[in-house]
Amino acid sequence: MSKFWSTLTKRTEPYVPGEQIDNKNIIKLNTNENPYPPSPRVIEAIKWEMENNLQLYPSPTADPLREKIADYYQLKKENVFVGNGSDEILALSFMAFFEPGKTIRFPNVTYSFYPVYAKLFGIPYEEVPLNRDFSILVDAFYQSDGGVVFPNPNAPTGIYLELEHVVDIVENNPNQVVIVDEAYIDFSGGSAASLVHTYDNLLVVQTMSKSRSLAGLRIGFALGNANLMEALTRMKDSFNSYTLDRLAIAGAGAAISDNRYFLQTTEKIIQTREWVTEKLKRNGFTVLPSATNFIFASHYKCKAKPLYEKLKENNVLVRHFDKQPIENYLRITIGTDGEMDSFFRKLKLVIAEVSQRTIKI
Ligand SMILES: *Cc1c(COP(=O)(O)O)cnc(C)c1O
Repeated sequence: MSKFWSTLTKRTEPYVPGEQIDNKNIIKLNTNENPYPPSPRVIEAIKWEMENNLQLYPSPTADPLREKIADYYQLKKENVFVGNGSDEILALSFMAFFEPGKTIRFPNVTYSFYPVYAKLFGIPYEEVPLNRDFSILVDAFYQSDGGVVFPNPNAPTGIYLELEHVVDIVENNPNQVVIVDEAYIDFSGGSAASLVHTYDNLLVVQTMSKSRSLAGLRIGFALGNANLMEALTRMKDSFNSYTLDRLAIAGAGAAISDNRYFLQTTEKIIQTREWVTEKLKRNGFTVLPSATNFIFASHYKCKAKPLYEKLKENNVLVRHFDKQPIENYLRITIGTDGEMDSFFRKLKLVIAEVSQRTIKI
């Protein structure tokens, strides 16, 4: 702290992202990145842009990209907003749609950026407990005072909420915005994207960081009624006209266009997820049903914290949230088959070590 800090800076509690360690020997299963590189067409598009246009500002409205995303979801450009990662879009949405003085709701186990934004913008919030099976308690989100935000599938549980229940929440908040954060939707059931025609209070937020292998390029997008998009644009244009640079716009457009590559890599990750789930279960883990590119699992005997720590000593990074009621769960990103084989070899050693210590204590 310093005397130069504003009151806002002093009271801010920043989000802590998963560690990014620059070490090629580490098996990195802690931030839900895609283990496969982006489509080769992405690299070509970025190269072309780099060699031709970097002296020019990008399009402030990112029109060519918004058109591609709109086509993909059979929407209009006016129903699409793009941002520098979906985190930026979430922040803009909190500003654009939620109010200080009106309590919003999100699940008590969810993406830990939501309380950070709420505190930053002075928005009161209520954390709604999950059901015992970690699914979302749908009717607890009805008639909210200030709005609702939740990921579907939820993070870090990985559990998908059927669209009919998403609709229930949207229909029961007719005067508030319901933000559905679909960061992992491509690994699961259907998106709520097509529902934005029907519901003017539904905001669907997605990212290219996970299913499109572009975490490093920072691209997120929102889908919704044109009025909601206009609000987001007003917020964006009040602090930075060019949130997406030329390389990001070009690369993201190419990623959306290469549907075949996208389907191949997504399908591969889902296959790996299925065998990893089975193998974890055979090794004493309870595994929540994942509709994402990660798994949330708890060992019947070993506590999650020492497992996390020992795995790290063995160059395997997973994510552990030291918080009730998930303190005994590990979130494990799905890597390549080879990475998951190495993970299981290390896990076996670590479980042996940790369970021995548990008995001694
Ligand atoms: C990864 C993630 C995001 C952020 O994605 P970016 O586009 O990389 O900012 C948002 N919400 C959830 C639930 C996520 O897991």
